[in-house]
Amino acid sequence: MMRVGQGFDAHPLVEGRRLILGGVHVPFERGALGHSDADVLAHALADALLGAVGLSDLGTRFPASDPRWKDADSMELLAQCAAAVRVAGFEIVNVDATIVVDRPKLAPHIDWMRANLAVRLEIDQSRISVKAKSSEGLGYTGDGSGIAAYAVALLSS
Ligand code: MG
Repeated sequence: MMRVGQGFDAHPLVEGRRLILGGVHVPFERGALGHSDADVLAHALADALLGAVGLSDLGTRFPASDPRWKDADSMELLAQCAAAVRVAGFEIVNVDATIVVDRPKLAPHIDWMRANLAVRLEIDQSRISVKAKSSEGLGYTGDGSGIAAYAVALLSS
């Protein structure tokens, strides 16, 4: 059986925070604000995986109200979601994600993100796609006040 899941995440971009995407520290004057390390790529992918098997969502599994997840490594949370998918009897066929932000430019960091995700999801890097998209100045991803990510995951049992 095939299952598909979809995920979305967004965080404000503020001074004094590191920008972490797919476990990669991207040098930039601002970073994503959140309870965890605010890795939008990891969060969107985690929701796609959980959604595909009907296992609720990241915020329900790891609530922001719980001090255990303060400054959490979101790639570790993603690995736990991938493990939950396997326990439910599914394998990850592929994942595809889009990060939406005008600045910084992410192209030099994409393959590092894919390599990190391959380790955490325990699938070959060829099954992992990460894309960066500008919103051409529109909205919170265009004016620099925020960053967003979308993801889909295909699973098979
Ligand atoms: Mg998030």
